[in-house]
Amino acid sequence: MAAVKKTATAKKAVATKKAAATKKAAATKKAAAANKAAPAEKAAPAKRAAARPAKPESRTALVRRARRINRELAEVYPYAHPELDFENPFQLLVATVLSAQTTDLRVNQTTPALFAKYPTPEDLAAANPEEVEEILRPCGFFRAKTRSVIGLSKALTEQFGGEVPGRLEDLVKLPGVGRKTAFVVLGNAFGRPGITVDTHFQRLVRRWKWTEQTDPDKIEAEIGALFPKSDWTDLSHHVIWHGRRICHARRPACGACPIAPLCPAYGEGETDPEKAKKLLKYEKGGFPGQRLKPPQAYLDAGGKAAPPLGAG
Ligand code: SF4
Repeated sequence: MAAVKKTATAKKAVATKKAAATKKAAATKKAAAANKAAPAEKAAPAKRAAARPAKPESRTALVRRARRINRELAEVYPYAHPELDFENPFQLLVATVLSAQTTDLRVNQTTPALFAKYPTPEDLAAANPEEVEEILRPCGFFRAKTRSVIGLSKALTEQFGGEVPGRLEDLVKLPGVGRKTAFVVLGNAFGRPGITVDTHFQRLVRRWKWTEQTDPDKIEAEIGALFPKSDWTDLSHHVIWHGRRICHARRPACGACPIAPLCPAYGEGETDPEKAKKLLKYEKGGFPGQRLKPPQAYLDAGGKAAPPLGAG
């Protein structure tokens, strides 16, 4: 009886060993196939990422890599622009405040009615809050946002003669306006360099090991030090565009990412090129963008305008 039991145990051990060997062989075959399928440049970062912790990147190498990523992104998104529709600094300021906790698309679908009815800070300052709430309802948090934009408009009217100020120190004094909003307005409505540290920017610069910081102000300072000031606004667009289209929070499309060879986080997302391609968004995935009125360069590059509210 003992001998039978021993034989059974031995047989089981052999079977387990065989199964493990088969599994290992299949995994190796799969990895080899993936490497074969991926372009050589896509396979490289994994090797480099593995090597990187052993030898910390020097400051000079970091600056070079960061600037190279920005240059490559400039080629990928030559038409990058702020994704909020606006025609003047007031509209951009209000749209940026409204964009909290919602998409730029939803803001762009909402603001045409708002600015048609209240074209100036004076008009919005004197508005009936209930009527503004009705217009802003699609943006979510519409009561709080109504209070914000009316308060903001009152401050512009009372303290700045109805004009949006073009200085950071004045902008951040306005109710509901922090450094992020101020830099969006300065960079895009006044042509003054600014870094926009939004959620995409924070995620990507940490994936790229440009910074370990988590506080937006510290991120802004550290990233600002890697680039000349004149690059700041375009850099912000490139990073945010990449975050929205390819390097998503949950499933980055690593296998379709043009800067994979420079990225220490390559492999955090989908590496299979075909599967990764399906994760691409907006014009990279063949879909409309966020602006109802995008710049001509975007349309010339094959980008499509977003549909108005209720149309899609
Ligand atoms: S998609 Fe992947 S490879 Fe590209 S930047 Fe993001 S984490 Fe890096």
